[in-house]
Amino acid sequence: MGRIAVASIIQETNTFSPQPSTLDDFVAQGYWRGVEAADRSAGTNTEIAGAIAHVHRSGHQPVPIVRAWAMSGGVLTARAFAVLRGQLFDGLIGAGPLDALVLCLHGALVAEGEPAADAVLAETARAALRPGTPVIVTHDLHANLTGRIVAAADALVGFHTYPHIDQGDTGRRGAVLAVDLLAGRKRPGTVLAKRPLLIPAEAQAIADPPMGALRRLADEATVGPILDVSLFPVQPWLDVPELGFGVTVTHDGDEAAARAVADRIAGAAWAARESFAVHPVPVDDAVAAIRPGRGPVLLVQSADSPTAGATADSAVVVAALLKRAGEIRAVATLVDAPAVDACHRAGIGGLVNTPIGATLDRRWSEPVRVTGTVTRLAADPVVLTGDSMTGQTVALGRWAVLDTGSGLGLLLTERPAPTFDPAGYRHAGLEPADVDAVLVRSATMYRAGFAGQYAEAVLLDLPGASTPRLDYLTFQHAPRPLFPLDPGPLQGGEDG
Ligand SMILES: [Zn+2]
Repeated sequence: MGRIAVASIIQETNTFSPQPSTLDDFVAQGYWRGVEAADRSAGTNTEIAGAIAHVHRSGHQPVPIVRAWAMSGGVLTARAFAVLRGQLFDGLIGAGPLDALVLCLHGALVAEGEPAADAVLAETARAALRPGTPVIVTHDLHANLTGRIVAAADALVGFHTYPHIDQGDTGRRGAVLAVDLLAGRKRPGTVLAKRPLLIPAEAQAIADPPMGALRRLADEATVGPILDVSLFPVQPWLDVPELGFGVTVTHDGDEAAARAVADRIAGAAWAARESFAVHPVPVDDAVAAIRPGRGPVLLVQSADSPTAGATADSAVVVAALLKRAGEIRAVATLVDAPAVDACHRAGIGGLVNTPIGATLDRRWSEPVRVTGTVTRLAADPVVLTGDSMTGQTVALGRWAVLDTGSGLGLLLTERPAPTFDPAGYRHAGLEPADVDAVLVRSATMYRAGFAGQYAEAVLLDLPGASTPRLDYLTFQHAPRPLFPLDPGPLQGGEDG
């Protein structure tokens, strides 16, 4: 029986967010050490829970080291990164002799001065382990793969789904590699191919033709010595060197075969680059088209998505909905700590007149003044109930529900509420099924969370730190040329 360590340090960075991420963002969402990391993750659809469960099943001893998870956000402070890195190192040293490590990382973590922070974590882990101890890394599909992380890991696997519903299964696949390696049954290695391609997250869904075709190629290639093919279309709000579409192929001792598969699939992604376009709709047009009583229309404000690291405080859609006050019913959510405070001071039943919005990121929207009655006040977290991150608890800080009296229910929170899952609204007593319009701050994940629960979803054409319009963003560190930012003929992919 081997002792297999499992550690999870996960945050997706959006380098266009003006708000730095801090240790408090992890503490709020669960920064658990040692056995607490296993106990509090058990039964959830998360990488760490999936990995630990498989290690158990295979007769080995799981050794939980740390679980630190935060909502997506801006660049992580150097201090917070040092603390997390130190916890990983000290936890591994303090755990006694270890035979392998499954390290669950997002893959798009950026810390101050560390554009490839996940690679630094993997190198830190390796430095804490005896030489030759296998390190298996798991990543989110939105990871930006670097040569450094691939070098630091014995093998690396990522999510196969988007919307992501295979977090637990990805942890399991990582643990399978660790167990097989320990048993001497496999000699896994991972190779990487990249292309200078960015894709709006809204065009990355596995159910849609371009990504679906690539995923099918990946599945068909997973035979014989090819153990896993993971696609990393990368989340595009990441201004870092080495940015681009990645494909990893994990093989059992046949690097040449793996390299051929990686190049073939990366080449297919490059060849399909023109088919990843999105067609967002102006917000006023989208709201004007809503007819009452036809089932909820999801107004997809992915430009300000907290699960993509934006601040979720743009009131642009709320302003558009207020223009139809009394005509349609709607629910919307917004991060606004001062407005939450005003509601808590007014108390249940109190009348509040307050500006909301643009308290964190003032570049894309103006505050909007609303008047309403406070109908709920609380500070408890929401438990996700959809197929993604099922069972995971997400802290909202203090929150309040404001009823404008004209058909609009507002969930105001101190911390961002993940709106890809209707559990956020339901937790606050707002029922998305009962209204004509639902504000959803999510690029694609809502398709899993709201599956079967909406009439139509309309992607809104808005600027923001997580906008689908990549031409709204200014990249300074990403390698150029990069499709679709640079028009005209591009080198880089045709060889695949
Ligand atoms: Zn993702």
